[in-house]
Amino acid sequence: EEKQRVENEIINGFDLAMRNREFKIYLQPRVSLFDYSIIGAEAVVRWQRPDGTVMIPDAFISLYERNGRIIDLDFFVFEEVVKFLAQNKKKGRKLIPISVNASILHARNSDTVEHYLEILNRYGINPALLEIELTETALLESHQFEFVKQVLDGFRRIGIAVALDDFGFAYSSLSLLKALEVDTLKLDRTFFLNESKRSRNIVCNVIQLAHSLHMNVVAEGIENMEQVHALREMDCDLIQGYVYSRPISADEFEAWREQYEK
Ligand code: C2E
Ligand code: MG
Ligand code: MG
Repeated sequence: EEKQRVENEIINGFDLAMRNREFKIYLQPRVSLFDYSIIGAEAVVRWQRPDGTVMIPDAFISLYERNGRIIDLDFFVFEEVVKFLAQNKKKGRKLIPISVNASILHARNSDTVEHYLEILNRYGINPALLEIELTETALLESHQFEFVKQVLDGFRRIGIAVALDDFGFAYSSLSLLKALEVDTLKLDRTFFLNESKRSRNIVCNVIQLAHSLHMNVVAEGIENMEQVHALREMDCDLIQGYVYSRPISADEFEAWREQYEK
């Protein structure tokens, strides 16, 4: 009953939370293994409740996927990210590409790509500064593979890169690589949890495979420097994880970046 009550509160609270702009973007840096510079960030959503608590996406994304409201939330998050880039552009700061998560539900709407493009045009932001992340499990479960492929190709046609998120978490990942052309492969955190020789071998070879398909490889959920060094040896391109920073608010991110680049 308690669980049901909390879920109902989340579901019924959506419209008011949107109106009060309680959803915030948090940014987590992506660091290059070539020269350790910050060459991107991922935006993840947080719900900042009026009582001061911050809710993480695991608590609400799946509920909004079930009732379809995730579409509005994803567009909102994307617009907040584009706004953030536009503000930085105005201040004359160096712009870095930002990736944004999108639910697979977007594949059902034929005007998804145009909507994203319209937001970019409204703020005068180059599509090359954005990347859309789609999760592997969602793609595998999707019964509308043709539609998924269409949206994915649509993003790439207008110049937005596409990343395959949480790669390796599910079982039949390789068939996805064959079927979908993506720009970035994000190796799932679970690869790095038990660091056996076997899992190192797999990671090493997946990185080579990705490179042979002209993809960039991001290792996700990296928590210590040993992992960073090992991944550099394996020719991985980018690191994202607590070792550099947790996802932090946009203001905190700018301060963090300034400090890091000093
Ligand atoms: P994701 O896209 O794979 O995002 C990465 C998640 O891993 C984030 O959790 C991040 O906080 C966490 N993480 C990053 N580095 C580390 C690390 O070193 N160690 C550990 N233990 N965890 C790390 P978060 O922010 O709770 O997001 C969870 C998921 O919610 C995301 O996974 C994404 O699938 C979904 N999500 C987040 N924002 C959005 C959104 O705006 N729209 C949609 N559709 N989904 C979103
Ligand atoms: Mg992601
Ligand atoms: Mg991920």
